[in-house]
Amino acid sequence: MMDAPRLSSTWFDGHSPRAQACELRIEGDELVLTVDASERRYPVRQVRWAERRSHGQRQSELPDGSLIQHAEAGEWDAWRQASGQRDGAVVGWMQSWRATLVAMGATVLFLAAAWTWGVPWLSQTLAHQIPRSLEARLGEQGMRQLDRLFLQPSALPVRQQDALRARFKSAVERAHPQGDAPAWQLSFHRSKALGANAFALPGGNIVITDDLVKLLADQPEAIVGVLAHELGHVHHRHGLDLMVRASLVSALVGVVLGDASGFLATVPATLATQSYSRDAERAADAFAARLLDQSGVSPSVMVAFFERIQQQERPAGQSDRSDRGEDGAALPIAISSHPDHAERIRFFREWRTEPARP
Ligand SMILES: [Zn+2]
Repeated sequence: MMDAPRLSSTWFDGHSPRAQACELRIEGDELVLTVDASERRYPVRQVRWAERRSHGQRQSELPDGSLIQHAEAGEWDAWRQASGQRDGAVVGWMQSWRATLVAMGATVLFLAAAWTWGVPWLSQTLAHQIPRSLEARLGEQGMRQLDRLFLQPSALPVRQQDALRARFKSAVERAHPQGDAPAWQLSFHRSKALGANAFALPGGNIVITDDLVKLLADQPEAIVGVLAHELGHVHHRHGLDLMVRASLVSALVGVVLGDASGFLATVPATLATQSYSRDAERAADAFAARLLDQSGVSPSVMVAFFERIQQQERPAGQSDRSDRGEDGAALPIAISSHPDHAERIRFFREWRTEPARP
């Protein structure tokens, strides 16, 4: 049997910066390193071999923390090959891939945890820290965008608009005699894309479509209920929560990808693509029921709204939800796109006056 090929190289013991001359050979599955006539043996598989694709010197790490440095890459590779270690490059490549996969897995886990627990908590907390002036600015920005995307000027008579506005105003004032209701402005718009619908933006801009006003023309109290639901979203700052959440996500993505551009650029678009959580909808419904009740109107007036919206979604003869959503899909935060009509009808029908709060 031929002697194993030997290579004179340089070794660092891992403790002192002093380079020591060494001789290397591979015997079976052991790397034998000779320094000052003493031998050290390492299992070949535990050595982190220099990667073949790198340029310049070759550096390999030994399991005890010491290092081999070899200045001549070509000489090193030739010795490895002559020692029957042809797979060295592949092993190095596999090792670095394994490390990459582990790092990626950890990143995914971190993002999932951040998404599940961190983001909702942080966005809610932050949404309530945002000053009213910034909230109003974000709302205006969102309004401009939605106006461009979905809205046309209302064709309703101004007198009808004013009458509805006055009716809602007096209901809000009756329910909030201390003046602690959130600020709001109501505007009427025609909208092909949204159909019979209503939505609210941060800062209190509430929009109702001509189609919804017409759908509930004989039920003005139900219109008040719909507007109260939207005011509930304003009160709880749900739209702001969505915006903050989206910017947290893009901030997280920015941190991971090392690119934070577009951090705030996409924020207003959030309102056009995201929907409120079920809990947010329940909170807005509860706000509406309380407002109606305290203004002297039975919350059950809202049943008319849900029933008519449902009829619209399900024209005669068609069943279930197969045709649903054209309107809703256009703007998920708008009221007609909220799910679970049956549950909500029950909620408004069975709502009972709460005992007065201290
Ligand atoms: Zn809603």
